[in-house]
Amino acid sequence: MTDTPAAPQPAPWPDKPLAVLVIGAGFSGLAMAIRCRQSGIDDLFVVEKADAVGGTWHENTYPGAACDIPAHLYALSFAPKSDWTRTFAGQPEIAAYLRELVARFDLAKHIALSTAVTGAVWDGGRSLWRVETDRGPLEARVLVSGMGALHYPAVPAIPGLHTFLGPLFHTAAWDHGVPLKARRVGVIGTGASAIQVVPAIAPEVERLVLFQRTPPWVMPRNDRPIGPRMQALFRRLPPVRRLLREIQFRVREARAALGFTRVSGLTRLAEAASRHHLRRQIADPALREKLTPPYRLGCKRVLISDEFYPALTRPNVTLEAGPIRAVTPDGVTMQDGRHHPLDVLVLATGFDTTASLARVPVVGRDGLILARAWGERVAAHRGVAVAGFPNFFMLLGPNTGLGHNSVVLMIEAQVEYVLACLAEMKTRNLAAIEPSPEAQARYLADLERRLAGSIWQQGGCASWYQDAAGRNIALWPGTVLAYQRAMRVPDWGEFVLTPA
Ligand code: NAP
Repeated sequence: MTDTPAAPQPAPWPDKPLAVLVIGAGFSGLAMAIRCRQSGIDDLFVVEKADAVGGTWHENTYPGAACDIPAHLYALSFAPKSDWTRTFAGQPEIAAYLRELVARFDLAKHIALSTAVTGAVWDGGRSLWRVETDRGPLEARVLVSGMGALHYPAVPAIPGLHTFLGPLFHTAAWDHGVPLKARRVGVIGTGASAIQVVPAIAPEVERLVLFQRTPPWVMPRNDRPIGPRMQALFRRLPPVRRLLREIQFRVREARAALGFTRVSGLTRLAEAASRHHLRRQIADPALREKLTPPYRLGCKRVLISDEFYPALTRPNVTLEAGPIRAVTPDGVTMQDGRHHPLDVLVLATGFDTTASLARVPVVGRDGLILARAWGERVAAHRGVAVAGFPNFFMLLGPNTGLGHNSVVLMIEAQVEYVLACLAEMKTRNLAAIEPSPEAQARYLADLERRLAGSIWQQGGCASWYQDAAGRNIALWPGTVLAYQRAMRVPDWGEFVLTPA
């Protein structure tokens, strides 16, 4: 389904300490690399465990995979693209955009593909990071993680899951070698991935059973092709493209107020719009009932689709809303004993978000292990830096994801913040920079206060945004504008600055 990945020339392996080492060549890592180069930092290296750049957009190739944020808003502001072919770009187009960035910004000589980081240790004596990879060691003064959170598939603890004899795979590791035509396919889960997969495969399979544990809130999508004339207009008149992006941004910022971040008077309005969408697309009251969420809109990610509900009305599709008892060698048995015989089973069960950084041991000052420092709560100062971990920055770190707008905007705010830190290190001739424990604690206390009243805590649901203790560790509890404002100029009083 994806185009063949463009094969960048292999980067020469660095033999001396780098200025900046970036882990991951997805949206975050590529944005960091581009802006480093534009800022004059050429002593830069990016390691990527996959065999192509693109991160989540390289890995998630399931049928129907697309972005639920408009393409013009989901692109990097400093790397615009005039010829997006749809309002909401599909995965192949986004993956191609990210691969094209490598050539456009001459990054190939800085990127090592098929190279996994296995650990990183801060060497206080030399003020640099010693990083182990499966291709050998690297050293860098500054380490930036662009590892993201959504790439270790969560495998549900359903009894008998691995006794299933047919093909069994996760949406993020779609097996394109398995034909679905005329086969009975089960899909477990009804999150953002499932609602894209189901309409995409329903027309070709003999039977599709969708196993739903919790119904999602779904809004209309209104996807449209963008024709050659509009593309030409965007190319010739960049202000028009920028205006469109600004409008798309502002409309989504309004969603933060519309109940996407907290229960407000407007939450009810948004819920009414979603119920109207359900009523318009599903005539059967029993099916509607099964699809009506029992929690407040915004508590889980609000999904957008014009095809999901109609797919469920197809004669070859069954929505199974009861609890699963077990997976058997030939299908799925429900708690009440009913059995669904299946040939293929698809897990659309999301990601293990805590696994991402925990799988790579990061050891900071005085032997402090990041996963252990996070024993109490996964947290980072402004979502990007952690006390005890000098010269270490995270992109899309804790509590900087979004439910209402484009995360690319958050990545960009963070990249500029990191660049400001790097510039300050140069100006003041610093060996190390890290947030003070006090500043981090103050930030976290404020964050917790704002999260306490958020829709994710008050909306009556559990979601992947929350940790085992039920705390939201994934999302930013406000508008993008508020985050951008807070990140524009670093407050050096929040940092411990160590002179060289
Ligand atoms: P997800 O939102 O975590 O959804 C997982 C689904 O699997 C949920 O419906 C969940 O039910 C169900 N599930 C999990 N364990 C189960 C079990 N043991 N038995 C039955 N059902 C089970 O995962 P996702 O759909 O892959 O999406 C993850 C995130 O990726 C999204 O929130 C979004 O940030 C991103 N994403 C974005 C796009 C996009 O368009 N931009 C597309 C895909 C994904 P419960 O709700 O009951 O837990």
